[in-house]
Amino acid sequence: MAIPALEEREFIERFGPTLHYGPMHGGERPKPDTHVRTHCCFCGVQCGIQLEVHDNKVVGFEPWEEFPVNRGMLCPKGVKRYMQNGHPDRLLAPMVRTPRGFDATGWDDALNRTVAAIHRIQARHGKDAFAVLGGASMTNEKAYLLGKFARVALKTANIDYNGRLCMVSAGAANKAAFGVDRSANPWSDIPLARALIISGANVGECFPILTDYIWRARDNGAKIIVIDPRMTPIARTADLFLPVRPGRDSALANGILHVMIERGWIDREFIEAHTVGFDQVSGVVAGYPPDVTEAVTGVPASSIVRAAEIWGPAETSMLLHARGVEHHTKGVENCRSYINLVLATGRIGRPGCGYGTLTGQGNGQGGREHGQRTNQLPGGRDIENPEDRRFIADFWQVPEAEIPHTGLTACEIIDAIEDGRIRGLLSISFNPLVSIPDADRTRAALGRLEHFTCIDFFLSETARYADVVLAGSLQEEDDGTVTTGEGRCVRLRQAVTPPGEARVDWEIIVDIARRLGYDEQFPYAIPKDIFRELARASAGGNVDYSGMDYARIEENMGIFWPCPSRGHPGTPRLFEGRRFHHPDGRARFQAFEYRPPAEDVDAEYPLFLTTGRVVSQYLSGNQTRRIGPLVDQYPEPLCEMHPLSAARIGVADGDPVRVETRRGAIEVPARLVRTIRPDTVFVPYHWPGPKSANLLTNRALDPVSKIPEFKVCACRVRRAGASADASGTVSDD
Ligand code: SF4
Repeated sequence: MAIPALEEREFIERFGPTLHYGPMHGGERPKPDTHVRTHCCFCGVQCGIQLEVHDNKVVGFEPWEEFPVNRGMLCPKGVKRYMQNGHPDRLLAPMVRTPRGFDATGWDDALNRTVAAIHRIQARHGKDAFAVLGGASMTNEKAYLLGKFARVALKTANIDYNGRLCMVSAGAANKAAFGVDRSANPWSDIPLARALIISGANVGECFPILTDYIWRARDNGAKIIVIDPRMTPIARTADLFLPVRPGRDSALANGILHVMIERGWIDREFIEAHTVGFDQVSGVVAGYPPDVTEAVTGVPASSIVRAAEIWGPAETSMLLHARGVEHHTKGVENCRSYINLVLATGRIGRPGCGYGTLTGQGNGQGGREHGQRTNQLPGGRDIENPEDRRFIADFWQVPEAEIPHTGLTACEIIDAIEDGRIRGLLSISFNPLVSIPDADRTRAALGRLEHFTCIDFFLSETARYADVVLAGSLQEEDDGTVTTGEGRCVRLRQAVTPPGEARVDWEIIVDIARRLGYDEQFPYAIPKDIFRELARASAGGNVDYSGMDYARIEENMGIFWPCPSRGHPGTPRLFEGRRFHHPDGRARFQAFEYRPPAEDVDAEYPLFLTTGRVVSQYLSGNQTRRIGPLVDQYPEPLCEMHPLSAARIGVADGDPVRVETRRGAIEVPARLVRTIRPDTVFVPYHWPGPKSANLLTNRALDPVSKIPEFKVCACRVRRAGASADASGTVSDD
């Protein structure tokens, strides 16, 4: 088998941006031999699903009605997820790059090349010159294994994961405010809330099954506030919609809290007994009266007051946010500003009262807990904390001094490849060429690597730059666990074995570790062995799974951490008893003065560009762009814009437009909608090549979480082919 090693643009021109796989593989659906209860792989809700299996192929699905989170319901992605199995693009054997393209090879040859490259690069340039990038859709077992592999077998500090592009701002804010990084409540608390704030969360498209929880809250009488620059589907059923100007969330939260304090809608007793820092907050938000907040955020003062009137005196309430708040150079500040609204009311740690961050990646929660982040060791431990380092060093039986310290985060690793500090890369289930901002720089960086090994199940756009491609496993081809966005660890069950010569991912990583001479440290025979070790490694840590095992997880349809002992039932709701996870048991307030995005609009680039998902696609699209019915729903990226801004540049619905930023330009059809602010355009980010939204976005990072600013940068738009001075400027009033 030879697959041409084409440059990405050339590949797309020749084969098209999507490799289309039609309904039911063109034949009649065979009768299943078995049904396997597992979970959907396409978002952090992890809906229960039964996969139908025939002759070692997934051929369909049935609802799994007993699983309590989705009770048999599935969204458009969930009902088509089975179609990725048996796909003709599936990688069936390891491959190596040759002058002719990619050639299939044997496992020994492929793995020995990888190991030789690791030895060569680390001997010449130091341990940290070889980096590792992991995915947040991988199982907990793989996340743990990859972290241990990097620290013990490679001894590199430079390991990070693609959750760095997703939930890390919320994670850092949760840790700072509550002392622990997890949503505070199970989703079953949402319908009990009498007021909901949903900020920067396109629930209907990104976590569709959670819409049902919000509708149930509404049916129970809840008032719903939605904050977003776009009137997303969930906003259309809200009681109050606040169309915030992109990049202004912290100011808006300050403004709402200003009114709450002024009207006395805060719980002084709770604040006094269970928190620290309220005086600093009240000092900062004093500077955000409604008129000032309106001027910054674009949200009418009367709506800011109305939000406070709904939220302030509510009997019960929950605040939910997602990437719209977090994907900013002040993502952590935005999240903490919203958390202030929760803490000020004291409504947390009881039924229907609390806070949650909605995780978009399949294992967005678990993927960030078990040590594949550069600043973290298993059990959510801090890699810079001497006690945490000693615990894990003893557990792994390595000298503490040999465990690397904090290295580079995901985008910084790409920067370091660009400037030559990093020469070798092993990546698994991560497609940075599509998912990291400023894609032309990422492409150039990948081309500079002395060696690149990529583990994946489909040849992603990034994998086309690899020297060695190792055919790994789809979710349904392996056993393991993932942890849902509400903190519930659930079991994934293997439905089929990998096809051809492909292998399960964890076996590949273990094989490389053993070839590097670390047989004893990587003794696993089955994923359950890794889970047992992961659970023991987490004992006493911030993220404690030590009371869990596969049998208990299955019996209970998932267990919420912390679960510190065998008899412990797990912890669906955190902070009951109003005790937070800081040593003094108190939550931390902190407010921030508003500061603008890294790149704000100006005369040259007068429109805000914001990016995000559509319901039929998942992340970089490496899986969902191959499933025909999902492609049909939204075949290519569109530029969503308001008719007012379109009229200014003479564009009608469907016309091709050129969207330009200081980093690049793309040409895509315009989609005119009245549901977006007139000063803002939206482009979804699931596509590669010349229409990739991440050719436009800004790789500026939050200083704490190191998340890039996907949700706001300055752009200009004109009709494709029109002269540069045809880009219109539109005000939002
Ligand atoms: Fe899958 Fe998420 Fe849809 Fe559930 S909501 S079916 S987990 S994509």
